[in-house]
Amino acid sequence: MKKILFALVVVSLFSCAGEAQMSDINSSDMRGKIVYEDANVVFRQLDEHTWIGNGNLAYNESLYIVEGNERALLIDAGTHIPKLDSIVASITSKPVTLMVTHLHADHAGPAVNLFPEIYINAADLVLVPNDMRDNYKGEIKFLTDGEVIDLGGRQIEVIFTPGHSPGSTSFFDKANRYGFSGDAFGSTNLLVFTNLSTVMYTAQRIERYMKQNEIRFLFPGHYSGNNLETLQRVIDIKDICRELLDGERQPVSSSGNNGGMDKMVDDKGVRIYFSSLTGFK
Ligand SMILES: [Zn+2]
Repeated sequence: MKKILFALVVVSLFSCAGEAQMSDINSSDMRGKIVYEDANVVFRQLDEHTWIGNGNLAYNESLYIVEGNERALLIDAGTHIPKLDSIVASITSKPVTLMVTHLHADHAGPAVNLFPEIYINAADLVLVPNDMRDNYKGEIKFLTDGEVIDLGGRQIEVIFTPGHSPGSTSFFDKANRYGFSGDAFGSTNLLVFTNLSTVMYTAQRIERYMKQNEIRFLFPGHYSGNNLETLQRVIDIKDICRELLDGERQPVSSSGNNGGMDKMVDDKGVRIYFSSLTGFK
Protein backbone atom coordinates (compact mmCIF):
# COMPACT_ATOMS: atom_id res chain seq x y z
CA MET A 1 0.00 0.00 0.00
CA LYS A 2 2.77 2.34 0.94
CA LYS A 3 4.48 1.51 -2.31
CA ILE A 4 1.37 2.26 -4.32
CA LEU A 5 0.90 5.52 -2.49
CA PHE A 6 4.51 6.45 -3.15
CA ALA A 7 4.11 5.58 -6.83
CA LEU A 8 1.00 7.74 -7.02
CA VAL A 9 2.81 10.65 -5.43
CA VAL A 10 5.70 10.23 -7.85
CA VAL A 11 3.35 10.03 -10.84
CA SER A 12 1.46 13.11 -9.75
CA LEU A 13 4.69 15.00 -9.16
CA PHE A 14 5.93 13.96 -12.54
CA SER A 15 2.77 14.92 -14.35
CA CYS A 16 2.84 18.24 -12.51
CA ALA A 17 6.30 18.71 -13.90
CA GLY A 18 5.04 17.86 -17.38
CA GLU A 19 2.32 20.48 -17.18
CA ALA A 20 4.54 23.04 -15.57
CA GLN A 21 4.54 26.47 -17.01
CA MET A 22 8.16 26.57 -18.13
CA SER A 23 10.05 29.27 -16.37
CA ASP A 24 11.48 31.82 -18.76
CA ILE A 25 15.13 30.96 -18.49
CA ASN A 26 15.97 34.11 -20.41
CA SER A 27 14.95 36.11 -17.42
CA SER A 28 17.19 35.96 -14.38
CA ASP A 29 14.38 34.50 -12.27
CA MET A 30 15.47 30.99 -11.38
CA ARG A 31 12.39 30.12 -9.39
CA GLY A 32 10.47 27.73 -11.59
CA LYS A 33 7.59 25.49 -10.57
CA ILE A 34 8.22 23.18 -7.63
CA VAL A 35 8.36 19.52 -8.72
CA TYR A 36 9.58 18.00 -5.44
CA GLU A 37 9.74 19.26 -1.87
CA ASP A 38 10.64 17.77 1.49
CA ALA A 39 12.30 19.04 4.67
CA ASN A 40 15.77 18.79 3.12
CA VAL A 41 15.46 19.91 -0.46
CA VAL A 42 13.20 21.68 -2.94
CA PHE A 43 13.48 20.96 -6.66
CA ARG A 44 12.19 23.42 -9.24
CA GLN A 45 11.95 23.14 -12.98
CA LEU A 46 14.17 25.54 -14.91
CA ASP A 47 13.29 24.41 -18.41
CA GLU A 48 11.84 21.31 -19.99
CA HIS A 49 14.87 19.13 -19.23
CA THR A 50 16.67 21.00 -16.44
CA TRP A 51 15.91 21.27 -12.72
CA ILE A 52 17.48 23.01 -9.74
CA GLY A 53 17.41 21.57 -6.23
CA ASN A 54 18.19 23.66 -3.18
CA GLY A 55 19.18 22.28 0.19
CA ASN A 56 18.69 24.33 3.33
CA LEU A 57 21.88 23.66 5.27
CA ALA A 58 24.44 25.82 3.48
CA TYR A 59 23.03 29.03 1.98
CA ASN A 60 20.59 27.18 -0.28
CA GLU A 61 23.24 24.99 -1.82
CA SER A 62 22.25 24.11 -5.37
CA LEU A 63 22.07 20.82 -7.25
CA TYR A 64 21.13 20.50 -10.89
CA ILE A 65 19.55 17.74 -12.95
CA VAL A 66 20.47 18.07 -16.62
CA GLU A 67 18.61 15.62 -18.82
CA GLY A 68 19.24 14.45 -22.37
CA ASN A 69 17.35 11.91 -24.46
CA GLU A 70 19.37 9.00 -23.13
CA ARG A 71 20.87 9.95 -19.78
CA ALA A 72 21.00 12.69 -17.21
CA LEU A 73 23.63 14.38 -15.10
CA LEU A 74 23.24 15.24 -11.46
CA ILE A 75 25.58 18.16 -10.85
CA ASP A 76 26.40 18.22 -7.11
CA ALA A 77 24.77 16.38 -4.22
CA GLY A 78 24.12 19.04 -1.56
CA THR A 79 25.09 18.97 2.11
CA HIS A 80 22.81 16.29 3.50
CA ILE A 81 19.94 15.10 1.37
CA PRO A 82 18.75 11.60 2.31
CA LYS A 83 17.28 9.50 -0.52
CA LEU A 84 18.65 11.85 -3.14
CA ASP A 85 18.85 8.97 -5.62
CA SER A 86 15.12 8.23 -5.44
CA ILE A 87 14.23 11.93 -5.41
CA VAL A 88 16.21 12.42 -8.61
CA ALA A 89 14.62 9.28 -10.11
CA SER A 90 11.18 10.78 -9.40
CA ILE A 91 12.10 13.78 -11.55
CA THR A 92 13.96 12.14 -14.44
CA SER A 93 13.43 8.60 -15.73
CA LYS A 94 16.87 8.58 -17.39
CA PRO A 95 19.92 6.86 -15.89
CA VAL A 96 21.77 9.43 -13.80
CA THR A 97 25.50 10.09 -13.50
CA LEU A 98 26.79 12.16 -10.58
CA MET A 99 29.38 14.84 -11.30
CA VAL A 100 30.45 17.57 -8.92
CA THR A 101 31.57 21.15 -9.40
CA HIS A 102 33.99 20.62 -6.50
CA LEU A 103 34.38 18.51 -3.38
CA HIS A 104 33.37 20.91 -0.60
CA ALA A 105 31.05 19.34 1.93
CA ASP A 106 28.05 21.40 0.84
CA HIS A 107 28.32 20.06 -2.72
CA ALA A 108 29.53 16.51 -2.15
CA GLY A 109 27.77 15.59 1.11
CA PRO A 110 26.88 12.07 2.28
CA ALA A 111 24.32 11.63 -0.51
CA VAL A 112 27.23 10.92 -2.87
CA ASN A 113 27.20 7.44 -1.35
CA LEU A 114 23.83 6.79 -2.97
CA PHE A 115 25.57 6.78 -6.34
CA PRO A 116 27.98 4.03 -7.49
CA GLU A 117 30.38 6.48 -9.10
CA ILE A 118 31.28 10.13 -8.84
CA TYR A 119 33.11 12.23 -11.43
CA ILE A 120 35.43 14.87 -10.04
CA ASN A 121 38.33 17.04 -11.11
CA ALA A 122 41.40 15.20 -9.74
CA ALA A 123 42.83 18.46 -8.41
CA ASP A 124 40.18 18.34 -5.66
CA LEU A 125 41.47 15.03 -4.30
CA VAL A 126 43.22 17.17 -1.69
CA LEU A 127 39.73 17.69 -0.21
CA VAL A 128 39.15 13.93 0.33
CA PRO A 129 38.26 12.80 2.94
CA ASN A 130 38.12 16.01 5.00
CA ASP A 131 35.55 17.78 2.88
CA MET A 132 33.94 14.91 1.06
CA ARG A 133 33.06 13.12 4.27
CA ASP A 134 31.91 9.57 5.00
CA ASN A 135 34.74 8.17 2.90
CA TYR A 136 33.07 7.62 -0.42
CA LYS A 137 32.51 3.92 -1.04
CA GLY A 138 31.88 4.02 -4.77
CA GLU A 139 34.29 4.59 -7.62
CA ILE A 140 35.89 8.00 -8.04
CA LYS A 141 36.36 8.86 -11.72
CA PHE A 142 38.14 11.86 -13.15
CA LEU A 143 36.79 14.52 -15.45
CA THR A 144 38.95 15.82 -18.30
CA ASP A 145 39.16 19.51 -19.13
CA GLY A 146 37.42 20.15 -22.45
CA GLU A 147 35.63 16.80 -22.63
CA VAL A 148 32.11 16.79 -24.01
CA ILE A 149 29.52 14.59 -22.33
CA ASP A 150 26.81 13.39 -24.71
CA LEU A 151 23.50 12.94 -22.90
CA GLY A 152 21.66 12.11 -26.14
CA GLY A 153 20.71 15.21 -28.10
CA ARG A 154 22.32 17.38 -25.46
CA GLN A 155 26.04 17.99 -25.05
CA ILE A 156 27.68 19.28 -21.90
CA GLU A 157 31.24 20.58 -22.03
CA VAL A 158 33.50 20.29 -18.99
CA ILE A 159 35.79 23.25 -18.30
CA PHE A 160 38.10 23.37 -15.30
CA THR A 161 37.68 26.64 -13.40
CA PRO A 162 40.09 26.50 -10.44
CA GLY A 163 40.28 29.23 -7.82
CA HIS A 164 37.55 28.66 -5.27
CA SER A 165 39.08 25.18 -4.89
CA PRO A 166 41.93 23.63 -6.88
CA GLY A 167 39.55 21.37 -8.77
CA SER A 168 36.54 23.64 -9.23
CA THR A 169 34.83 22.73 -12.49
CA SER A 170 32.10 24.26 -14.63
CA PHE A 171 29.71 22.51 -17.01
CA PHE A 172 28.49 24.27 -20.15
CA ASP A 173 25.44 23.66 -22.29
CA LYS A 174 26.49 25.62 -25.38
CA ALA A 175 23.27 24.96 -27.30
CA ASN A 176 21.18 26.48 -24.51
CA ARG A 177 23.94 29.06 -23.90
CA TYR A 178 24.21 28.58 -20.16
CA GLY A 179 26.49 26.84 -17.72
CA PHE A 180 26.74 25.53 -14.16
CA SER A 181 29.68 26.98 -12.27
CA GLY A 182 29.37 25.81 -8.67
CA ASP A 183 31.26 28.24 -6.44
CA ALA A 184 33.89 29.15 -9.07
CA PHE A 185 32.54 32.71 -9.34
CA GLY A 186 31.26 32.84 -5.83
CA SER A 187 27.49 32.78 -5.86
CA THR A 188 27.94 36.39 -4.68
CA ASN A 189 30.62 35.58 -2.06
CA LEU A 190 33.77 34.28 -3.73
CA LEU A 191 35.87 32.44 -1.17
CA VAL A 192 39.35 31.97 -2.61
CA PHE A 193 40.82 28.77 -1.16
CA THR A 194 43.69 28.86 -3.71
CA ASN A 195 44.97 32.30 -4.68
CA LEU A 196 43.98 35.42 -6.61
CA SER A 197 46.23 34.67 -9.58
CA THR A 198 44.43 31.36 -10.12
CA VAL A 199 41.05 33.10 -9.92
CA MET A 200 42.24 35.72 -12.42
CA TYR A 201 43.39 33.00 -14.81
CA THR A 202 40.00 31.27 -14.59
CA ALA A 203 38.05 34.52 -15.01
CA GLN A 204 40.13 35.42 -18.10
CA ARG A 205 39.54 32.00 -19.57
CA ILE A 206 35.80 31.98 -18.91
CA GLU A 207 35.38 35.55 -20.15
CA ARG A 208 36.79 34.42 -23.50
CA TYR A 209 34.72 31.22 -23.47
CA MET A 210 31.47 33.04 -22.68
CA LYS A 211 32.09 35.57 -25.45
CA GLN A 212 33.03 32.93 -28.04
CA ASN A 213 30.02 30.79 -27.23
CA GLU A 214 27.60 33.60 -26.39
CA ILE A 215 26.92 32.07 -22.99
CA ARG A 216 24.21 34.15 -21.34
CA PHE A 217 24.73 33.22 -17.69
CA LEU A 218 25.98 30.59 -15.26
CA PHE A 219 23.88 28.85 -12.63
CA PRO A 220 25.74 29.24 -9.32
CA GLY A 221 26.36 26.80 -6.50
CA HIS A 222 24.14 28.62 -4.01
CA TYR A 223 20.83 30.34 -4.54
CA SER A 224 20.35 33.72 -2.92
CA GLY A 225 17.73 35.27 -5.16
CA ASN A 226 18.70 36.98 -8.33
CA ASN A 227 22.31 35.77 -8.39
CA LEU A 228 23.01 34.11 -11.71
CA GLU A 229 26.64 34.62 -12.67
CA THR A 230 27.03 36.87 -15.71
CA LEU A 231 29.80 37.76 -18.15
CA GLN A 232 30.02 41.11 -16.39
CA ARG A 233 30.51 39.36 -13.02
CA VAL A 234 33.34 37.29 -14.51
CA ILE A 235 34.99 40.39 -15.98
CA ASP A 236 34.63 42.29 -12.69
CA ILE A 237 36.27 39.39 -10.80
CA LYS A 238 39.13 39.33 -13.32
CA ASP A 239 39.64 43.11 -13.03
CA ILE A 240 39.49 43.14 -9.21
CA CYS A 241 42.02 40.28 -8.98
CA ARG A 242 44.37 42.04 -11.41
CA GLU A 243 44.12 45.32 -9.48
CA LEU A 244 44.85 43.52 -6.21
CA LEU A 245 47.83 41.70 -7.72
CA ASP A 246 49.16 44.94 -9.26
CA GLY A 247 48.75 46.79 -5.96
CA GLU A 248 46.32 49.25 -7.56
CA ARG A 249 43.61 48.17 -5.13
CA GLN A 250 43.90 47.52 -1.41
CA PRO A 251 41.68 44.93 0.28
CA VAL A 252 40.07 45.58 3.66
CA SER A 253 40.26 43.32 6.69
CA SER A 254 37.56 40.69 6.86
CA SER A 255 35.95 40.58 10.26
CA GLY A 256 33.93 37.40 9.80
CA ASN A 257 35.33 33.91 9.99
CA ASN A 258 35.60 32.79 6.38
CA GLY A 259 37.89 29.80 6.51
CA GLY A 260 40.82 31.86 7.80
CA MET A 261 40.41 34.45 5.09
CA ASP A 262 41.47 37.75 6.62
CA LYS A 263 41.11 40.05 3.59
CA MET A 264 38.22 41.01 1.38
CA VAL A 265 37.05 43.29 -1.39
CA ASP A 266 33.42 44.33 -1.74
CA ASP A 267 32.81 46.14 -5.02
CA LYS A 268 30.55 45.95 -8.08
CA GLY A 269 28.30 43.41 -6.38
CA VAL A 270 31.27 41.06 -5.97
CA ARG A 271 32.68 40.04 -2.59
CA ILE A 272 36.04 38.30 -2.76
CA TYR A 273 37.55 36.82 0.42
CA PHE A 274 41.14 35.57 0.53
CA SER A 275 44.00 34.87 2.90
CA SER A 276 46.81 37.42 2.96
CA LEU A 277 49.16 34.57 3.90
CA THR A 278 48.35 31.99 1.25
CA GLY A 279 45.77 33.48 -1.09
CA PHE A 280 47.58 36.30 -2.82
CA LYS A 281 49.99 35.09 -5.53
ZN1 LIG B 1 32.72 25.50 -2.15
